Amino acid sequence: MKETKVIGLVAHDARKKDMVEWVEKHHEILKDHKLICTGTTGRLVEEILQKYYPNNSMEITKLNSGPLGGDQQMGALISENKIDVVIFLIDPMTTQPHDVDVKALERLCVVYNIVLACTRSTADFVITSSLFDKTYEPKIIDYKEYLNRKV
Ligand code: PGA
Repeated sequence: MKETKVIGLVAHDARKKDMVEWVEKHHEILKDHKLICTGTTGRLVEEILQKYYPNNSMEITKLNSGPLGGDQQMGALISENKIDVVIFLIDPMTTQPHDVDVKALERLCVVYNIVLACTRSTADFVITSSLFDKTYEPKIIDYKEYLNRKV
């Protein structure tokens, strides 16, 4: 991981307020990194960042809305090593229409040893970590045995 991190942001509807507050609280740190968001989360994040960085001076990549493929797009970027950190604020009280995609995104974060925060507290700890703005070599999980398995 380079000093500048690529951060994926996803929030279920009941957690979008939390995400917007979190982004606002940490915008001075976030401005030095790259943000990739699912569609609706991205729109709200963009709105709040406009307040501090007008004229789109802080660029955000917006994927499709989560239930329309955005979680899967983010998963694909993770599998290509294009995302370092995912802040995924999940609603634990509501069944999601794209539950399988939610699980798949969480799973790929684990498969690729991505930094994953699913609670706002963890997200606070992650972004204030002394590692956050440094280069970092995550342990690469070796899938050679799996890839070379006899089938
Ligand atoms: P959204 O998607 O940001 O487009 O609402 C979030 C999600 O995956 O539920």
